[in-house]
Amino acid sequence: MSEGLVTAAYIVAAILFIFSLAGLSKHETSRQGNIFGVTGMAIALIATILGPDTGHVGWIIVAMLIGGAIGIHLARKVEMTEMPELVAVLHSFVGLAAVLVGFNSYLDHGSAPMMPVMENIHLTEVFLGIFIGAVTFTGSIVAFGKLRGKISSKPLMLPNRHKLNLAALVVSAMMLIIFVRTDSAGWQAFALLVMTVIALAFGWHLVASIGGADMPVVVSMLNSYSGWAAAAAGFMLSNDLLIVTGALVGSSGAILSYIMCKAMNRSFISVIAGGFGTDGSSTGDAEEMGDYRETTAEEVAELLKNSTSVIITPGYGMAVAQAQYPVHDITAKLRARGIKVRFGIHPVAGRLPGHMNVLLAEAKVPYDIVLEMDEINDDFSDTDTVLVIGANDTVNPAAQDDPRSPIAGMPVLEVWKAQNVIVFKRSMNTGYAGVQNPLFFKENTQMLFGDAKESVDNILRAL
Ligand code: NDP
Repeated sequence: MSEGLVTAAYIVAAILFIFSLAGLSKHETSRQGNIFGVTGMAIALIATILGPDTGHVGWIIVAMLIGGAIGIHLARKVEMTEMPELVAVLHSFVGLAAVLVGFNSYLDHGSAPMMPVMENIHLTEVFLGIFIGAVTFTGSIVAFGKLRGKISSKPLMLPNRHKLNLAALVVSAMMLIIFVRTDSAGWQAFALLVMTVIALAFGWHLVASIGGADMPVVVSMLNSYSGWAAAAAGFMLSNDLLIVTGALVGSSGAILSYIMCKAMNRSFISVIAGGFGTDGSSTGDAEEMGDYRETTAEEVAELLKNSTSVIITPGYGMAVAQAQYPVHDITAKLRARGIKVRFGIHPVAGRLPGHMNVLLAEAKVPYDIVLEMDEINDDFSDTDTVLVIGANDTVNPAAQDDPRSPIAGMPVLEVWKAQNVIVFKRSMNTGYAGVQNPLFFKENTQMLFGDAKESVDNILRAL
């Protein structure tokens, strides 16, 4: 393939990636968006492999077959609830790839000597690429551990943590100056290695010091970092498409992080600088909150039959139980009886941006009754019954009432304003943020204990 043809293929692929992002921004067009993305990536891969600069095609194909086989195996095996962990691991691969490309690019200067200015630019690219890649790598591993429950979701509170972060950045900047300025190969290697170790520790600390409730921002922030790491690798490899794609991922991830911060009423800088709100000490005590009432599936079915308007607020527990299918059936049954049923979706419900929307779309719940938090929050006071299916932090009134709570200030679905609230969960355990929920102890709330899918199935039968 000639250079010109490769460039043309890259432009087509870049345009398809932009269409892909545009498609993914709406339910109705998301499938189409995915197809654009896959097509763009296929074109990009073929053009790169057949391009004039590529050698050892046999090895590349062997690597792709092995990687593809692992990818297909993982994609088939992974449960929807494990998706965030998978995404976090994949981000760590992008980070590691940028580190490896950086070292490779440093060691293999190429045969032609470079002009001093170009040499400086090249060295800076290498340094920044490795820095961003290393931060993304360890940060994503910690995010994976936290999402999987292998690392505590509590924030790590090292003494002087902000000063430590600042020191890491200052020393790294000094290493960059040494790396670019020195003529000694020994000093250069020293500066690069010191920075790599610092960046690995910095990435680890950055995510470890963020508390559970702020994890959504971390996941989207690492998404953004992985994009910038890919763009840095693109500069080092002089691959324009990788630069464009990395920039698209980096900036869309940054926009997503901003949206998540707004949804949680957090300042982005405070979150990444080490866990906003994590000084909050009040996680609530179930014993002090009083008594709660239990109910049965039959009673809930009866309550639903006598309601004229119902709102369902799903959360992570619906994903764990895979309850979206019977939830769809209940919705259809109630609507057939003339009852107004709508869904209220909190922006950080579940463990992945858009998690609940994906599950409900999978179960074919009509899009027009699935509303965002801001669209539905004023309607709870006019609602007869709210079904809180596996949600906890996202419906916790402590966010509004308790300034010392770790989730203080986070906007929540105001379900307690409805006449009746039914909470579906298995126990009185806390949600992801580890905060007890005063909603469970309110007079108009009843608890329906058990696996959410079984509970919804039982209600369906009773209906
Ligand atoms: P939570 O994690 O607060 O609570 C989920 C509830 O579901 C738990 O209280 C649990 O209670 C219940 N549950 C679990 N399994 C089942 C089951 N099989 N059947 C019935 N209930 C079950 O969920 P929310 O969706 O309300 O909040 C999301 C939290 O996750 C927020 O803190 C958010 O910040 C965080 N987060 C969100 C991300 C995102 O991008 N959306 C990413 C990372 C974190 P029990 O054990 O008693 O059953």
